[in-house]
Amino acid sequence: MGAGLEDLFGNERPGEPDEANGELRRALVVAAHPDDADFGAAGVSALLARAGWHVRYLVATDGSKGSDDPSFTPERLVAMREQEQRDAAALLGVTDVRFLHFTDGELVAGRALLGAIVREIREFQPYAVYTHDPEPVIIRNSFVNHSDHRATGLATVDAVYPAARDRLNFPEHIEAGLPTHKVRELYLWGANEPNFDVDISDILELKIQALLAHPSQFPTDDAFITRMRTFWREPDGRSLERFRRVVMFF
Ligand SMILES: [Zn+2]
Repeated sequence: MGAGLEDLFGNERPGEPDEANGELRRALVVAAHPDDADFGAAGVSALLARAGWHVRYLVATDGSKGSDDPSFTPERLVAMREQEQRDAAALLGVTDVRFLHFTDGELVAGRALLGAIVREIREFQPYAVYTHDPEPVIIRNSFVNHSDHRATGLATVDAVYPAARDRLNFPEHIEAGLPTHKVRELYLWGANEPNFDVDISDILELKIQALLAHPSQFPTDDAFITRMRTFWREPDGRSLERFRRVVMFF
């Protein structure tokens, strides 16, 4: 049992499961590539882990396209990036990391991806799911939202509602003994219209350490650290992870 959410998050804090009704303190973070979960949700993941929640990272692709270094074979890059993701997550208290191994850069929000995520949700039974906001093609007029990010976000939203909830969707899961599952809260990063802020000021350095655990992706030098500190500093001096929060109605 860790600290309470009110101690770690303050007034604006995520919802809590009704444990008397069998809801579990579990959060599933679904990301397209190894490193996206750390960009989007390292802070909230670390805070939830400190509160005693079971946080699981689920990475949709194998990250096999994410290098310009000609010395990397795809196989070597995949193995390296998986280890980087496990190392980064461990810094945050997230010791449970899974990979779906779809091909990097080729992800589509079709039946295969949807079914894989539904299976994970039914198996893990998370109270909350964190993922990419699938809607923006351009984020804050500053970034192109990678097509793998959009596909992951869209398949995850569709998995949460209604696919994981209804037993006639992917009935082979039910036949295999998995229960249906209602996710209660959805949190989307990379949103153009965030409505929920997590104050990560106290653990920004830990988030940056998690990003530095991906040396195949980022330069691990002082300039990068300075850039990250600046990127996550709001005008009022706080550091925030900003989400679009949806409390599920059904
Ligand atoms: Zn990515």
